[in-house]
Amino acid sequence: MGTGTLYSLPKLPYDYNALAPFISEEQLKLHHQKHHQAYVNGANAIFEKFDNTRKENIDFDVKATLKELSFHIGGFKLHNLFWENLAPPGRGGGGLPGSELAKALNSEYLKFDRFQKEFTQAAVSVEGSGWAVLTYCRKTKRPLIAQLEKHNVNVIPGYTILMVLDVWEHAYYLDYKNDRAKYVEAFWNLVNWNDVGKRFDHLMAWESAGIK
Ligand code: MN
Repeated sequence: MGTGTLYSLPKLPYDYNALAPFISEEQLKLHHQKHHQAYVNGANAIFEKFDNTRKENIDFDVKATLKELSFHIGGFKLHNLFWENLAPPGRGGGGLPGSELAKALNSEYLKFDRFQKEFTQAAVSVEGSGWAVLTYCRKTKRPLIAQLEKHNVNVIPGYTILMVLDVWEHAYYLDYKNDRAKYVEAFWNLVNWNDVGKRFDHLMAWESAGIK
């Protein structure tokens, strides 16, 4: 073993039934305990492979392994963010963004409805399995919507992700079958704008401090 530690599955910040009726207890439990856990296990298996092959001084397929690692770590981190971006409806979930984030979104999209529409369209049209994300371009000082395919394709290096929506079928199939659009519509009742806003404020504090 190396000196590093391994990944572990974080607890959800709410109960499994707390996001109902928009995400059911069964759906959330499966998503967290099986799918999120699989990325934890996948990343850890690769770290163990690093340790074991280095100890024995044997080769491994570096290209394939690094690709797989990027997939698992991407999945792990995006799910952490997703759980924190959500809150029970009416108890922190839903409503409208506040403060500086609201100003930035209004400046870019002119009104919240327009942002919501573009983000919804991004989420609904992600090809195959992936995510719709809200990020921010510090060069142009613009909020930016992006589509990540799988967990790691179309990632823009160095861009902080503020909000994510998982549109893998595993995220919604029990509740919505193949109706991704209905799931995306439901998502707006669960967005924890306080959490998203704090991430934006944190980024702006870096910006003000001149931290690249
Ligand atoms: Mn997922």
